[in-house]
Amino acid sequence: MDTNAHTPRILASPGTSPVSGRVHWAPAKSLWYLAHVSIAIVAGYLTFSLSSFLVFIGTTGITLCLGHSLGMHRRLIHNAYECPLWLEYLFVHFGVLVGMAGPLGMMHQHDLRDWAQRQPDCHPYLRHGEGLWKDGWWQLHCDLALCEPPEFDPEPRVANDRVYAFMERTWMWQQLPWAVLLFWVGGLPWVVWGISARIAVSVTGHWLVGYFAHNRGQRDWHVEGAAVQGFNIPAAAYLTMGESWHNNHHAYPGSALLGLYENQPDPGWWVLNRLRDLGLVWSIRLPEDLPSRPELSALTATDCTERRRHLPLSRSPNRSSHHENGRQ
Ligand SMILES: [Zn+2]
Ligand SMILES: [Zn+2]
Repeated sequence: MDTNAHTPRILASPGTSPVSGRVHWAPAKSLWYLAHVSIAIVAGYLTFSLSSFLVFIGTTGITLCLGHSLGMHRRLIHNAYECPLWLEYLFVHFGVLVGMAGPLGMMHQHDLRDWAQRQPDCHPYLRHGEGLWKDGWWQLHCDLALCEPPEFDPEPRVANDRVYAFMERTWMWQQLPWAVLLFWVGGLPWVVWGISARIAVSVTGHWLVGYFAHNRGQRDWHVEGAAVQGFNIPAAAYLTMGESWHNNHHAYPGSALLGLYENQPDPGWWVLNRLRDLGLVWSIRLPEDLPSRPELSALTATDCTERRRHLPLSRSPNRSSHHENGRQ
């Protein structure tokens, strides 16, 4: 099996191993997360108001949809569609505001997992293989140091980009101008809810969805020989902007469409189509545009070719397929 066709930025040599490594406490990551959670709980309680809650909803929606899902994941990491560079910068900046890492840090974390999860085995940190609480401690407070890590080699377009280098150096500080703006317009409650509560909920939610999406849920696809399968979490579809159709993503990582069937809502896809109507987005990639994968098989009765024919090629979805629970 070609283990590296989908993660070209990860360069593995014969000695490289995704299995052996040591999980260690990461002070900056841990304290950053704890600070925002503490502020969210204490100051969030003290400053709660309808307007601050609406600011929380609005800023969370924008940063998760335009930022994390469309900017960071579907565009920067997977190149699943094309857009003007200024729009890419804006969306990736929104993705940085989610509060997990800079653009290169996110890309590295994502690709390392993507690569490791395709191998016959990988460290439990990389496949969310421990229990919920231990995984929470690991993912939210620790880093993994692999003994023999692969090389991370981002494409020159990103690696040599001065805007991305700046975003990477200053990713925590990028909250600051928005905090000042929120303070100026709505006072301290808007800062607490628009920055700290948003970061606490987004980062915790990202981990929780990542945990369940690699442990239990529904599946239509199986990737033969992979250390872990991805699972769909239908209940989180709207909250994650479509990212929780993770079984589909393991099957077709380069597809801009994540909710492949008509009963799989994908808000990120809907927004992408509106942007395409405005002429801001083009060359949207779908599963049928990707190279075929011999290791991929459909778990449900309809075969892959049949299913792909039903995928929407435009904004008028005509998806039809049936579902089967592959709960494990
Ligand atoms: Zn995954
Ligand atoms: Zn991905």
